[in-house]
Amino acid sequence: MPAPAFRSCVEIAHTVRDGGCRATEVVAECLADIAARNDSIGAFVETFGDTALLDAEAIDAARARGQTLPPLAGVPIAIKDNFLVSGKIAACGSKMLAEFRAPYTATVVARLRELGAVVIGRTNMDEFGMGSSTERSAFFPTKNPWDRSRVPGGSSGGAAAAVASGLCPLSLGSDTGGSVRQPAALCGVTGLKPTYGRLSRYGLVAYASSLDCPGFLARTAKDIDLAMHVAGLDPRDATTLDAPAAECALAIGLDEAASLRIGCLCDEAIECGIDQEAQRAFDAALDCWRSLRANIAPVHLPHAQHAIAAYYLIASAEASSNLARYDGIRYGHSPGGRTLEEAVTSARSEGFGPEVQLRILLGAHALQHGYHDELYGHATRVRRLVADDFAAAFAQCDVIAMLTSPAPAFPLGSRIDDPVAMYSCDALTVPASLAGLPAISFPCGFTKDGLPIGMQFVAPPRREGLLLAAAHAWQLATDWHLRRPGR
Ligand code: GLN
Repeated sequence: MPAPAFRSCVEIAHTVRDGGCRATEVVAECLADIAARNDSIGAFVETFGDTALLDAEAIDAARARGQTLPPLAGVPIAIKDNFLVSGKIAACGSKMLAEFRAPYTATVVARLRELGAVVIGRTNMDEFGMGSSTERSAFFPTKNPWDRSRVPGGSSGGAAAAVASGLCPLSLGSDTGGSVRQPAALCGVTGLKPTYGRLSRYGLVAYASSLDCPGFLARTAKDIDLAMHVAGLDPRDATTLDAPAAECALAIGLDEAASLRIGCLCDEAIECGIDQEAQRAFDAALDCWRSLRANIAPVHLPHAQHAIAAYYLIASAEASSNLARYDGIRYGHSPGGRTLEEAVTSARSEGFGPEVQLRILLGAHALQHGYHDELYGHATRVRRLVADDFAAAFAQCDVIAMLTSPAPAFPLGSRIDDPVAMYSCDALTVPASLAGLPAISFPCGFTKDGLPIGMQFVAPPRREGLLLAAAHAWQLATDWHLRRPGR
């Protein structure tokens, strides 16, 4: 019998609805599996056993009363440590918030629960989302389930590792510059970053507000499609899109997805040292798409090579402002001090790790009078050019394909002291983030050492349905997503 969570969300919800098993059984098995195996992976920071079982009991009771169950009934979901769940700690992978209990629940989480999903715990992440390896968690590093000497990617590394190792079928993550897609690629699962504004940010702890997007990780596009029903306008987040959730759903059939016009970002248009094995897997995947009758033509994004520089200025600038609230007085770790200045200084230097401090300094510098236009202003102009490049490219294609990550999972510790090497992990994910576009990563091959490789499709605004349909068509035709890491 496979670990309970290797079952898909579709299958679990279906079985619970039909009475094939009870939600309490699914959740209890899932919690027991996490208790037995999490230590070797470090995907979860905490499980919510009591409340998860209560939620599951409520679902079973509703079924016993003859009520029709919602589409995610009984599906265990893991929540990244930067989403608020009322009464639970939301630490954002930081010592600063290690004891912070959420006073309310994030809209996305509340809607997931209305759909019947059961929140089973919170997953590890790079502190405040700043990192690409989950080694920047203040608690412990998460390991890649395919090779435990390697990173799972980041910053939603716990979310990706939880799904990849079968500890749960679905995770909620957040993607500011690639944090859903890159760990999905490195862990061999599927990850969707929706259009900016598609999913509410209310109750997602802010990193860089103009870029932050909640997103989902699961083993199939079909499972993510189920979860995307939480999309839609939220009066508590003025940037949410007023469009029906159905717009995100598998909008087209297999035939149509297979005759996609795929724009291919070829020839290392973005210089980031692409790994040869990854490139070979990507090329083979494109051949496979051709055999599925997709039309593939090269496209150009001339400014995308500057996306990394622009992203790290904009994201750090916004972070320096968003993280100002953690002063040990209004929020956060509070060691105290004789003067106000001493109290704030000790709170921030003890509470924040080195990467977060670096970003705050960089961001504050970029916004400083005298440098503002040269640094932040320049970065925002590059952002506009990248968005214009995408708009022009979409005149000729339905989706743009590229690798998700320049390289497969790298060894723990190998990039932690080299920020440039770490930041280069995001070279292929940040262009879509800057342009606010939806993008999906799905498995497309493995290295000879058995490490997963992910490919990424980027679509025009609001075309999540197309991305999910294309990835679903791919998963009907290939079996990369069905491989499992050894225990
Ligand atoms: N690795 C990128 C960063 O550190 C992206 C992280 C994210 O998407 N949260 O900013």
